[in-house]
Amino acid sequence: MFENHLPTAELQALDAAHHMHPFTDGDGLAKKGARIITKAKGVWVTDSEGAEILDGMAGLWCVNVGYGREELVEAAARQMRQLPFYNTFFQTSHIPAIQLAKRLAELAPGDLNHVFFNGSGSDSNDTNIRMVRRYWQALEKPEKNVIISRWNGYHGSTMGAASLGGMKGMHAQGGLPIPGVVHIDQPDWWSEGGDLTPEAFGLARARQLEEKILEIGAENVAAFIGEPVQGAGGVIVPPATYWPEIQRICRQYDILLIADEVITGFGRTGNWFGCQTFGITPDIMTVAKGLTSGYIPMGASIVSDRVAAVINGSDEFAHGYTYSGHPVAAAVALENLRLLDEDGIVARVAAETAPYLKAKWEGLAAHPLVGEAKIVGMMGSIALTPNKETRAKFASKSGTVGYICRERCFANNLVMRHVGDRMIISPPLVITPAEIDILIARALKSLDETLVRIN
Ligand code: PLP
Repeated sequence: MFENHLPTAELQALDAAHHMHPFTDGDGLAKKGARIITKAKGVWVTDSEGAEILDGMAGLWCVNVGYGREELVEAAARQMRQLPFYNTFFQTSHIPAIQLAKRLAELAPGDLNHVFFNGSGSDSNDTNIRMVRRYWQALEKPEKNVIISRWNGYHGSTMGAASLGGMKGMHAQGGLPIPGVVHIDQPDWWSEGGDLTPEAFGLARARQLEEKILEIGAENVAAFIGEPVQGAGGVIVPPATYWPEIQRICRQYDILLIADEVITGFGRTGNWFGCQTFGITPDIMTVAKGLTSGYIPMGASIVSDRVAAVINGSDEFAHGYTYSGHPVAAAVALENLRLLDEDGIVARVAAETAPYLKAKWEGLAAHPLVGEAKIVGMMGSIALTPNKETRAKFASKSGTVGYICRERCFANNLVMRHVGDRMIISPPLVITPAEIDILIARALKSLDETLVRIN
């Protein structure tokens, strides 16, 4: 459709002049110009110069079924013809929202049987803040309203979600966090584990939750929120001891557990949801991204019987978005879930693709620049280091080497992101073994070139 587009330089100039980008250094954009993506198929994206790039990040961790699935296009078109919009406020509903809520209740573990639809991951987490506070208020415990989360967690970019997140740079720019959100440390053994074994460190970091609850008073704490695997924080895979201890603490002190599955949902960790991979049972699960494979925006809070009974059984919950349960998004999500299931995409990840990727990814640890190589399902990270034994950091400012490596990946037509000096991947779940081989070969080449550049 865009084959006869303007020359790349002209598009870049227009982009820099008029388009304000999320999480982008505006000055860099003006000097270097954006890479302009024009089309995509499977795991491959094409830029305005015709380069074919292997998308190791599934867009922004979201294109789980891969690009170019006509079934999703057809689902959207059919629904647009039938009913392009109707709201779900004021006792109205429509068939796509009803069907999708039912399907999500079937897929979600435990008694997560109730769905509040949102437009994105960020506003799903804002819904969660409002819902857990409303829950305790309805139970006549309005003072039970503090939410505990983790430093270096990411829960989105709205005022509420960015407050839940523990990104200090975001807090510094927006007068955040909002009142009633406090943070504990993350379970990042590589960077912060010191002399502890990963298992002992995992327990120690989980017990910070208990310490924080005791400090604030359990009667004042509404909920704990965490990503089963921190994504934007650098694909931090917690030690195996971490999540069971968090679950124990939440149960003991009657604190609601919110699993933010915006990245880890819909097959990413090798199960339908990350909480299944880590053996936890949340009270609320946040989903977005892979819910529609990113073809159209949608998020949801999937809620337990216990929480839903209180919210539905009290005065009206004064909350909602125009696009809550948008029929076109719901129709696309339903078709996307059908593909993940009936096309065997999630099953294939567990049986074949994730084990293959794991073996190759962990092999990167033999490279002189790579310390730990961690992977769960289809999300992985490598820590770059000048000394594997001491887990040392580079003398340069954090992120300098990671940035160089990311630029080498780009030059080698591989999208791999950096978070500080960690390199991360989260490819479409449909990536084939042959494509994984290409991903690994390009990653190794980029690591070699990075090593040359920093020495
Ligand atoms: N939660 C997690 C774990 C995320 O990774 C993200 C986005 O990356 C969000 C929430 C926010 O989602 P959105 O960008 O759709 O608002």
